[in-house]
Amino acid sequence: MRFSKFPFYAFALCLAAGSSLAEDKKAPEAAPTGYTDTPFLPGGKWRVHDDARPRPEVVTPGKTASEAPSDAIVLFDGKNLDEWIMDKDNAPADWIVKDGFMEVPPKGKGVGGYIKTKREFGDIQLHIEFATPEKVEGNSQGRGNSGVFFLGSHELQILDSYENKSYADGQASALYGYKPPLVNAVRKPGEWQTYDIIFEAPKWDAEGNLLKKAYITVLHNGVVTHHRQPYLGATGHKSVANYNTVIESGPIKLQDHSNPTRFRNIWVRELKLDAHE
Ligand code: MG
Repeated sequence: MRFSKFPFYAFALCLAAGSSLAEDKKAPEAAPTGYTDTPFLPGGKWRVHDDARPRPEVVTPGKTASEAPSDAIVLFDGKNLDEWIMDKDNAPADWIVKDGFMEVPPKGKGVGGYIKTKREFGDIQLHIEFATPEKVEGNSQGRGNSGVFFLGSHELQILDSYENKSYADGQASALYGYKPPLVNAVRKPGEWQTYDIIFEAPKWDAEGNLLKKAYITVLHNGVVTHHRQPYLGATGHKSVANYNTVIESGPIKLQDHSNPTRFRNIWVRELKLDAHE
């Protein structure tokens, strides 16, 4: 009797294991995790905990916060300027590339000028690393000046603001000509620094009326220097910024201000802010 029971138990065990395996396989997709009988959220499209609401796309983060995540566009990986062109004539970018960084070339050699991305962007997350010149020369706006321009026109200032007095709306991490940073989080000349930025492009109606200003959030070396700060408009010099030009997307531009500023590890993520309801 004992002999005949064993195959039966073994057979039953296999059946049980098989059916539970089948359930496991289909479980992630079939089993609802949300609800269909909860109240609607304001706007009426989705219920609280709605099971039909699309789940967020999976993105693999970099090993560190500085490393590009899986859905980023790498704009500079230290090797070449393939993603960049000269602002003045769209020729290939001629800044110096060496030792894993790019550098504003020396003045008066027939090279240099602002560079910009070939691609155009609207709402973005941008990571960019920079170093102002180790050899300290000049003062105020003449020391380690560069800048990152969104839509090719809205500047986030780069300056050597380490023990370098200059006007408040022109120092490192300022929205140039308008808004000083919340704090001065600058590192010493020659040291690598980071900007982690969320930029929201302005929005307009069909007649060109401004519906929403441009906004920027900035972490400078991990320190918040702007939190969803509205731009006063496209950046000017000795003039008040304005929204006179209807623009929702444009290149990212880097400034040649005749100081050998260095850049490395630049990546961007396009944000679909309006689509994420
Ligand atoms: Mg500048």
